[in-house]
Amino acid sequence: MALDLAGLFLIAVFGLVVGSFFNVCIYRIPRKESLAWPSSHCPTCSHPLSTLDLIPVFSFIFLRGRCRYCKAHISWRYPVVELLTAVLWILAWLKFGLSLEFLSAAVFLSLGIIITFIDLDQQIIPDVISLPGVIIGLLLALLSGRPPITDALIGAFGGAALLFLVAFLSHGGMGGGDAKLLAMIGAFLGWQGAAAALMIGSFAGAIIGLLLIALKVIKRRDPVPFGPFLIFGAGIYLFFSEFIIDFYAMLVSGWL
Ligand SMILES: [Zn+2]
Repeated sequence: MALDLAGLFLIAVFGLVVGSFFNVCIYRIPRKESLAWPSSHCPTCSHPLSTLDLIPVFSFIFLRGRCRYCKAHISWRYPVVELLTAVLWILAWLKFGLSLEFLSAAVFLSLGIIITFIDLDQQIIPDVISLPGVIIGLLLALLSGRPPITDALIGAFGGAALLFLVAFLSHGGMGGGDAKLLAMIGAFLGWQGAAAALMIGSFAGAIIGLLLIALKVIKRRDPVPFGPFLIFGAGIYLFFSEFIIDFYAMLVSGWL
């Protein structure tokens, strides 16, 4: 029990620190900046940040969300990404324990967090994340057997082919970035996971989109990035696949 708690604590701290690095990725990858140089600085006044400024979450609270040097507001995204990384890693640990499945889940959720916030911010899903993600997902499936490598291959190529077709037919309504993201989801979660992500993601995207239009946050013709919804659907499948497969089997047996 003590060991379990120590493990959880370590994962939480490691998640917060790595989440802080994900913030650097989210800001710099779409701007094609180096991840290593220069060291972290305030995006407003460019003052280099000290170790104290870089303590995840706590520095944000301690500084009341403002830069120590120029008092500019720090985006809420920084503590949110750090907390989200730690919380999702802990949930994956509680579900899978020390296993290759945990490693696969943690890597997938991490890539999902980075892609979600880049897509929300810049409306792009960078190939430098999704394409290596496909390879890493397939390798982990090959090593762990969860999902079976054939399911992962069908998910990766089938998912990409389906959304490229939709992108082609919709003349830019949906981008190639979403197709490569669905390939990554298929590689990590198999074709079953890619199908669930597509269905849950489309449903959630339609509801949130209508809600935002009704609340006049966006206009009817404004583009809504689809990537975060695909990742949300994939996350639901990752944690609740047993329920989803049972529910689907119940529906099918009810129909037949
Ligand atoms: Zn500043």
